[in-house]
Amino acid sequence: ASRTAAATVLAAVAAIAAVVDEHVDELGRIDAVAGDGDHGIGMQRGSHAALAAATAALEAGAGAGTTLTRAADAWADKAGGTSGALWGVILRAVARELGDTGSPAGADVAAGVAAGSAGVMAYGKAEPGDKTLVDALVPFSAALTRGIDSGSSLRSAWAEAAEAATVAARDTADLLPRMGRARTHGEHSIGTPDPGAVSLALIATVLGSVLAD
Ligand code: ADP
Ligand code: MG
Ligand code: MG
Repeated sequence: ASRTAAATVLAAVAAIAAVVDEHVDELGRIDAVAGDGDHGIGMQRGSHAALAAATAALEAGAGAGTTLTRAADAWADKAGGTSGALWGVILRAVARELGDTGSPAGADVAAGVAAGSAGVMAYGKAEPGDKTLVDALVPFSAALTRGIDSGSSLRSAWAEAAEAATVAARDTADLLPRMGRARTHGEHSIGTPDPGAVSLALIATVLGSVLAD
């Protein structure tokens, strides 16, 4: 690869912040249907704090794992809201598998995403079907692991996994929320997808092009 793993991490965090910027109003609107309407703003605050932290870490010579850990901590710290804490959990788990030396393999990335998915469920106690970002993250992780295990490149396994996340996020529209703020106005959300699942799928999709570089 022509760039270091840490530089790829920075490019990935930058791509996340950019796609969140593009969809900030839409994510707020979806969250306002049954939640408090702050999902776009919260994701924006978190991802931009993460980008600033990753930039500083890379400039200070940090490796990929440390760069992503700094980004994760800044995201969780600055975002506020449930989704910020959960994105901190996801990114920290991936960072642990990347480490700071060598160039991480597809299996490391898949293991990190799987650990992040398990970590989100342990932290937030949501299960598949509760209408949360877990509904996009679990099929994303499963498809990624399946692809890598069957010998696909990270790029192609990731593309299939992002497609699975997109379909799964769309399918949350039919679900009744059982977790998070949205559960109190649950019936209003029928027909609208879960905002956290939608943003996760958007991010998974945009990261495919970073991996393809
Ligand atoms: P808040 O609900 O605190 O305002 P956000 O609006 O940023 O936070 O995020 C809402 C999203 O967080 C939901 O759409 C859902 O995907 C996710 N979420 C909420 N609670 C949980 C939970 N316990 N486990 C997993 N995801 C959750
Ligand atoms: Mg909200
Ligand atoms: Mg909120």
